[in-house]
Amino acid sequence: MNILERIRQNSLAHPDRPAVVSGDEKLTWGELEQLSTRLAAHLEQACGDNRAPVAVYGHKSPLMLVCFLACVRSGRAYCPIDISVPESRAQLILDQMDSPVVLATEELSCDCKEKELWSLEKLKSLLSQKLPPLPEAKAVSGEDTYYIIFTSGSTGTPKGVQITASCLNHYLDWSVTLGTSPEQKQGQIFLNQAPFSFDLSVMDLYTCLACGGTLFCLSKTAQADYRLLLNRLGASGAQVWVSTPSFADICLTDPAFSQKLLPHLELFLFCGETLTNRTVQKLQSRFPGAKIMNTYGPTESTVAVTQVLVDEALNSAVSPLPVGRPKLGTRLEIWREDGSPANPGEKGEIIILGDTVSSGYYKRPDLTHKAFFTCEREGKSLRGYHTGDEGYLKEGMLYYGGRLDLQIKLHGYRIELGDIESNILRLPGISRAAVIPRMSAGKVKSLAAFAVCQEPVADSFAKSQELKKRLKDYLPEYMIPKKFIFLEELPVTANGKADRQTLGNMLQPSGNPANDGSGGQALGGKG
Ligand code: AMP
Repeated sequence: MNILERIRQNSLAHPDRPAVVSGDEKLTWGELEQLSTRLAAHLEQACGDNRAPVAVYGHKSPLMLVCFLACVRSGRAYCPIDISVPESRAQLILDQMDSPVVLATEELSCDCKEKELWSLEKLKSLLSQKLPPLPEAKAVSGEDTYYIIFTSGSTGTPKGVQITASCLNHYLDWSVTLGTSPEQKQGQIFLNQAPFSFDLSVMDLYTCLACGGTLFCLSKTAQADYRLLLNRLGASGAQVWVSTPSFADICLTDPAFSQKLLPHLELFLFCGETLTNRTVQKLQSRFPGAKIMNTYGPTESTVAVTQVLVDEALNSAVSPLPVGRPKLGTRLEIWREDGSPANPGEKGEIIILGDTVSSGYYKRPDLTHKAFFTCEREGKSLRGYHTGDEGYLKEGMLYYGGRLDLQIKLHGYRIELGDIESNILRLPGISRAAVIPRMSAGKVKSLAAFAVCQEPVADSFAKSQELKKRLKDYLPEYMIPKKFIFLEELPVTANGKADRQTLGNMLQPSGNPANDGSGGQALGGKG
């Protein structure tokens, strides 16, 4: 059954159950169904033959969900943009969307140009006006794009990953079985941590919708205020937890974060970055009644494609932890640099093949051609994706070994270092830049930027503050380097690229960088 049918059936079965709770706002299943059907008809009336994807701007409001479903019910993909995306970056995304309308549940300061802005007020007014519902056949299906999620791009421009209805449906057939049975998940409360513009949110949002549950959203404000966060967690009644391991680590710093706070919690679902033995051990002792699952996958393969239950036996026997076995419909291969298959246990690039691999990057045939391909396996044609991740397979189990390029994860956020570097170079007076991750216990802890300025820097602390402030116009907060170090020249390798090894060494305490803009001591770690 496809997701829109599942949603319709769930709304008929329990119209009064809350479908989504976000702060003081709540929407029942009956309302979600009715409002999204109504808005779909308005979209169809306004857009006519134009079936281009629609940008939906906002932050975790129930109305945002109404907008998503309205788009797909009217046969249009949607592209979520969270309020944490800076205006200039949101503008880059908006400019690529060819729909005549933009839906915004929060105030949007971007220039919508020839597009009509459907503000919160307008959306509410349209939702109060009934129109005949559209036939179900209008909805996106099969190879139609269902959503587009933008991720960091190495040249400073985010790239839009297109996920088809078929990818999402295959993903959901599997995600409802993760850790507990689909029957057990029926009507459960799912915690939403990630903003809707990150694909991790698909794991909670759509698995919850497929199981007729209630999505409990933790807003940006709640996550920024520790007391409020614990308070909201306690009020959630959550049974299924979905987050990055980093978010669980933040919660674990408070001893109150335990089964007592979340007595009904049955399942932790993790994805997006390395899950450490230490995090698992802490969770197991604080939540003895909950299962812990590690999953792995890039946005380009629809959230996740592997799973492993991390129980006490596995956690005490294996370090680092594996990321799991592939789901049904997914084939994992490890390729050497020359494209030949690696032997079991041999490291190489993780290649994902199968039914949840994206159809490519939106309007970027060049990037699509580089990363995606089709191939024959056992008489079937499969879509494939080069993850750029290093890993190996041992007895069918996948072990993740880091990145082969300059993409990193910081607190669960996917970042191309080239994206930050390109944006630093947009700032006046900067002639070269290199961003280096500071590592600790195998994870990126923070970012340091090395910059060469056209004029000598007299006060490196003031200069770094100025650059950080200016960068906020282009980059989300989590992408802004914590530390700036000003050099007269960047060390380069034989082929003229920034010598990241040397720069990394300079971040070590003994490295003693020449002009350290942190105003404090040099960062430690391996760089
Ligand atoms: P995103 O597209 O934001 O989901 O980021 C995808 C990338 O996150 C992958 O290519 C990996 O590098 C990393 N990743 C995802 N899941 C895991 C995991 N379980 N363990 C380690 N790294 C992961």
